[in-house]
Amino acid sequence: MAEREELTWELFGSASRELAQQVADSGYEPDVVLSIARGGLFVAGALGYALDVKNLHVMNVEFYTGVGERLELPVMLPPVPNAVDLTGAKVLVADDVADTGATLKLVRDFCADHVADVRCAVVYEKPWSEVKCEYVWRRTDRWINFAWSKQPPVIRREGQVLDA
Ligand code: 5GP
Repeated sequence: MAEREELTWELFGSASRELAQQVADSGYEPDVVLSIARGGLFVAGALGYALDVKNLHVMNVEFYTGVGERLELPVMLPPVPNAVDLTGAKVLVADDVADTGATLKLVRDFCADHVADVRCAVVYEKPWSEVKCEYVWRRTDRWINFAWSKQPPVIRREGQVLDA
């Protein structure tokens, strides 16, 4: 199997800063950073600070269940952000990686009807992604180990049900 891409906490520090710089250099001034949980939470937080945007929203999307293992389609988990909060806004969607791009497509489509503008910022983009992100730190065709999900949970919790 091909060697993996490693994003350590230290590397994430400079990656997120460089990603924010790309957004700033493009002249895009988002009103809202929309984070895709869970991996996108780290990216959204870092971009929010670096771009001085305090308005952060979260969308929960579940797709992958393991290394290269995924559900048939990404699913939006509750709570779904209130469309009213996004209406007319310039939105920056933040995620860790665009792999198939299906997650970002779902989120972009969700936003499209309400917002003034929507752009995507990711740390990594894979060459086959169906969504081409406006802001990408690095491109790879390998599986990525992220600092936040590389280690197993300290406790295993089976059959979790999220509250609506
Ligand atoms: P997509 O919908 O673009 O296929 O994948 C979106 C989500 O799948 C990412 O936000 C991430 O949580 C997970 N994912 C996809 N590719 C990778 C990868 O190479 N490494 C890890 N750790 N997660 C991935």
